[in-house]
Amino acid sequence: MLATASVHPNPLPMSFTRRQWLATAAAASTGLLSHRAPAAAVLPAAAREHRSLKITAVRITPVALPDPPILYAGGAHGPYFLRNLVEIETNAGLVGISETRGGETLTRALEAAAPSLVGQSPFAFRAFEAALMKASPAAYAGIELACLDLIGRLTGLRLCELLGGPVRDRVEFCSYLFFRYAADHPAVLDDPQLVDARVRGENALDPWGEVLTPEAMAEMAWQFRQKWGFRFHKLKAGVLTPEAEIETLQAMNARFGGVEPLRIDPNACWSVDTAVRVADRLRDLPLDYYEDPVSGQEAMGEVRRRTGLKMSTNMCVTRMSHLPDAVRHQPVDIVLADHHSFGGLTTCQALGTFADAMGWSLSQHSNNHAGVTMAAMIHLGAVVPQLTYASDTHYVWLPEGHDLIVGPNLPIKDGHMRVPDGPGLGVDLDPAKVAVAHERYLRSGMRRRIDAEKMLRFDPNWKRPRY
Ligand SMILES: [Mg+2]
Repeated sequence: MLATASVHPNPLPMSFTRRQWLATAAAASTGLLSHRAPAAAVLPAAAREHRSLKITAVRITPVALPDPPILYAGGAHGPYFLRNLVEIETNAGLVGISETRGGETLTRALEAAAPSLVGQSPFAFRAFEAALMKASPAAYAGIELACLDLIGRLTGLRLCELLGGPVRDRVEFCSYLFFRYAADHPAVLDDPQLVDARVRGENALDPWGEVLTPEAMAEMAWQFRQKWGFRFHKLKAGVLTPEAEIETLQAMNARFGGVEPLRIDPNACWSVDTAVRVADRLRDLPLDYYEDPVSGQEAMGEVRRRTGLKMSTNMCVTRMSHLPDAVRHQPVDIVLADHHSFGGLTTCQALGTFADAMGWSLSQHSNNHAGVTMAAMIHLGAVVPQLTYASDTHYVWLPEGHDLIVGPNLPIKDGHMRVPDGPGLGVDLDPAKVAVAHERYLRSGMRRRIDAEKMLRFDPNWKRPRY
C-alpha cells in the first residue's frame, strides 16, 4: 500500500516570527545555511517509495478482436485485427497497462525487450527508448504507455495530468467511413481463420450491411451522425473510381445539408494529375482537408501547390526522421499524429511543438484498436494544444461487448470523448475478456493482417487500385 505524503518534512514552529523568517530567507539567499540535511533524508515517504519502485515483470499478450470487412486501397479487413497488450508489474504491487499494434513480429520484439526492463524504474522510461525504437516505434510506444499508466496509478494522477495537464476535457473525433461488405458475407463466414460463432442476419457482427454505392455511404454516414453525433466526416476512398468517390462525397454533403466538413483519403493510390482533377471537383464541397491523395512528400507538395487545398497525411510524415524532408517539400498543413508510429505520447507532444514552428496543425491517425488505445488517444488529444482537428478512430467498428476493458465501450457523445476520470489511463483490462481474445488469437492462426489476400476472397479479380 502506498504511504501518504506528508505536507512538509520539517514544518516551521508555531513561534517562528516574521522577522525570523526574513532573516532565514536572507541567509539562505546568500548561501549561509549550509547545514541542511542531505536531500534523501528529507524526502517524503511517498517520494522514497517512488524512488525504490522497480519493474518486476513485463507480460505481453497478443490478442485478436473481431473486424468487419471494411475496405481501403490495400484490400479488406477481417476477420480479426491483432493487438499486443503490455502489462508491467512492480515491487509495489501495481500494474501498468497498455495496448499497441498487433502482429507476431512486434510480439517477439516486446518479449525480447522484456527481460532488460526488469529491475529498472518505470519512471525512467526514456532510458528504454533507444533500444526499443530500433525494434519498432510501436514497441517503445507500448512500453512508454504502460510506464506512464503505472506512474499515474502510483500517484493518483490522470495520464493527461502527468503529461502537463489537459488543455481540453473533451476530445473531438470524426466519423471514419469505410466502404464495406456485409458482416455476414459468405467470404467472411467461410474464412478458415474465423473461429468465433458469427451468424447471419440480425445477429451478424454489426448492423451496417453492404456499403458500396454513394447512396449507401451517405445513409451510413447519416446513421453515424445520428448515433454518435460526429460533426466531421471522413471518407476512406481508393475503393471505387475517383468519379464514384466524388459522387459519394456529394451525396454525403447533400445528406448533411451542405454544412458539415468532409474529408477524403484514398491512401495515396492516385496520380498527381488525378489528384489535381479531383481537387477541382472538391472546391464546391465543405472540405475539411485532402488526405494523402498521392504517394510521397514531393508529389504531395506538388498537389498542395497546384491546388491550394489544405492537405493532411498519415503516410508521408509518420515519424520524426521524416521532418527534415517535410521542411523542404512542404507536403501538408495537418499531420495525423499516431503515438504508435511516432514512438510514444511524449514524442507526439514534441511533434506538436515542431508543428507550431511549421505552421501545421495536428489530428490523430487510427488503426483498428480497442479501449486502452482509445483512452490513450483521448489523453493525447487532451494535452497537445496543436491537436485542433477532430481525430480519426476505428473504435466505432468494434462492436459493443468486444472491447477488452472493464465495463462497456467508452462513450462517444456529440462526436466527443471525455478524458477518463481514473488514475493513469483511467481504464482497466478485463482478464476474462483478454483471455477470450488471446485464445482467439491462438486458434485463428492470424499472425499478421494480409488485407490484399482477404480482398481476393470477395473479388478474385481485384487488383490494387491505381488511378
Ligand atoms: Mg490516411
